[in-house]
Amino acid sequence: MSDSCLFCKIVLGEIPATFVYQDEFVVAFEDINPAAPTHILVIPRQHISTLNDLEAKHDATVGRMTRVAASIAKERGIAEGGFRTVFNCNEDGGQSVYHIHQHLLGGRSMSWPPG
Ligand code: 5GP
Ligand code: ZN
Repeated sequence: MSDSCLFCKIVLGEIPATFVYQDEFVVAFEDINPAAPTHILVIPRQHISTLNDLEAKHDATVGRMTRVAASIAKERGIAEGGFRTVFNCNEDGGQSVYHIHQHLLGGRSMSWPPG
């Protein structure tokens, strides 16, 4: 955990969030500033700053993040219509919180390429 990390504080319950899923390795909660009707962030409990910090030991956790995102999409009824998941990495990727998170976006049609 990182003392100064916003998402570590959410994992520890020190900052409130609307959780939609929690297990031993990952948690998911509503994005505070939704960019789509469904906008959920799936994060590891463990602090990992960026995708550039991933190691082989994180493979199972990151795999679980993606499976959890897809399963929440199913629960929300947006799986068949389609949805998007995104990891932003560092400044050019648009990352603003430096604890990796998978955005699950859906409930509207997405354009491509992203801005
Ligand atoms: P990034 O820009 O790093 O890919 O995404 C960070 C996301 O975290 C943004 O979509 C932003 O709205 C969300 N966010 C920032 N602060 C908070 C917060 O305190 N609570 C929640 N639930 N989401 C947050
Ligand atoms: Zn963190």
